[in-house]
Amino acid sequence: MGALCGGGGFSDRCFRLFPCVSDPARRATLGLKVALVMLHVVYAGVLFIINKELVEKTRQEPWYTAMYLLLFIVTLAQYFITSGSSPGYVLDAMRAVNEEGALSNRMSVASKQPASSKNGSVVITIDQSKVGRDLLDSNATSWTKLVMDMYPHGTSVRTVTCTHCNALQPPRTKHCQDCDKCVLQFDHHCVWLGTCIGQGNHCKFWWYISEETALCIWTGILYIQYLKSNISKPCYLVLTNQTTYELVRRRRIQYLRGIPERVFPFSKGACRNLYDFCCAPSNIYRMEPLPTAREIEEKSRPYTCFDILSCRCCC
Ligand SMILES: [Zn+2]
Ligand SMILES: [Zn+2]
Repeated sequence: MGALCGGGGFSDRCFRLFPCVSDPARRATLGLKVALVMLHVVYAGVLFIINKELVEKTRQEPWYTAMYLLLFIVTLAQYFITSGSSPGYVLDAMRAVNEEGALSNRMSVASKQPASSKNGSVVITIDQSKVGRDLLDSNATSWTKLVMDMYPHGTSVRTVTCTHCNALQPPRTKHCQDCDKCVLQFDHHCVWLGTCIGQGNHCKFWWYISEETALCIWTGILYIQYLKSNISKPCYLVLTNQTTYELVRRRRIQYLRGIPERVFPFSKGACRNLYDFCCAPSNIYRMEPLPTAREIEEKSRPYTCFDILSCRCCC
């Protein structure tokens, strides 16, 4: 119980220090962003830790790594720009239209004042409470008129009113259940960005997707290059029954002289080589005789379709 209280006190202190994390929804969004940044840092960071060749390449060609890091930073920056941008909420658009409508109403009211129009200065001498009431009325009219003009004549106001926001929806608008707001030109709600994608951030979103794709492909290529240079070589040796010494010093080794380059004299086929390497009992000494001239000739024979069908290359 005491521990629970202690935990509660700690979280209360955290919320006081960082008010933005007191809201569970904002806390989840913040956690998502931290997780995504960490994922990027680990994905790219591991590569620089394990791939010594990349570190060496960075020393020799700094511009290559600089370009990669630039893409990395630009991608993350684009992520934050997109997630922090408004997708175009109907309520914001409505407010903007209403304010504009109200301003034009006030201007038209002021222009009717005969004294003020002479010297160009605009003076409004109307009771404030009346202004507020007028603004509300004009606001509703501005937005309603604007939206209803976008629909065919005779469309019912009720059919284009969001039942959640109680706001008139222009065409291509949809109410997002996650944001609990109507979004202009709703595309989808992106859980990774923690926001809707709509009219206001659709372009930013595609820039982010393009940059993220380029970063993933580039990082993937670096991983494949690393794996190829560090894993394919041992596999190749096992599958062809060669030692590293035989691979590197082939031309200097007396018993391999005169054997064509692509012939592996001790190979018994990929499957058998793999089986012998992995499953052969370690307490038995295996001595492998050199192949005869006839066997070498047989091995150097080019593969035909029949050889592939009969698994000559593997068995
Ligand atoms: Zn709505
Ligand atoms: Zn949403």
